[in-house]
Amino acid sequence: MAAFDPVQAVPFFRVPPGKAIPKNAVQYKASNQATGTPGGNRFDLVVGCDSATEIMEVASDFIWKTFQQEQKERKTVSQVTLTVESLDGIAYTANNKIHLNSDYIANYVGDVRFEIIGIIFHEITHVWQWNGYHHNARQGLIEGIADYIRLKAGLAPPSWIKKGSGNWWDEGYAVTAYFLDYCNDLRHGFVASLNCLMKDSYSDDFFIELLGKPVDELWKDYKIKYGSL
Ligand SMILES: [Zn+2]
Repeated sequence: MAAFDPVQAVPFFRVPPGKAIPKNAVQYKASNQATGTPGGNRFDLVVGCDSATEIMEVASDFIWKTFQQEQKERKTVSQVTLTVESLDGIAYTANNKIHLNSDYIANYVGDVRFEIIGIIFHEITHVWQWNGYHHNARQGLIEGIADYIRLKAGLAPPSWIKKGSGNWWDEGYAVTAYFLDYCNDLRHGFVASLNCLMKDSYSDDFFIELLGKPVDELWKDYKIKYGSL
């Protein structure tokens, strides 16, 4: 996939003034509940609510493209919200509502705008991805797919572990993201097909179905390739 710059892409997705918002369009809303605190002020300075809603739109479009989903194949969601507030951890998403920790933003050392955009791409993947509804997929795989999106968008932060790291394929986050990227190199569109299969259920056999090998064998191949077995 060609290099994708979400920051550059934002203007292309603006709905020009006066133009009707298309039917079936998702509404994106961002609010900063931490205004006046160091984290809330830093969020306003480097991103702000208007830009955050545009990032949410661009991220959603990028995810649907990566999942190779036409409109009728996507989840039906009418509104996605982002709230910046003080909470534990970094961020979480529940019921199409993303919550981002203002204290994390306040204390982040490095390119905080890049980090916030990366977190939004990760969290909004949780809105759109399938999770094996009737037979819940492993949480590590769910997190790995969200970080795979972040990786493919060019938003992997420098703090990520290096490719080939990890003890299990479904450890989650960057470990699983890099493994899924390897699998996707074996078969273009693998992650899109996997997500599609995960609409109703989940089974490790999906790896055999799509790549002809059990997932544990693929993990071994991957570890051998990167010299870290
Ligand atoms: Zn997550």
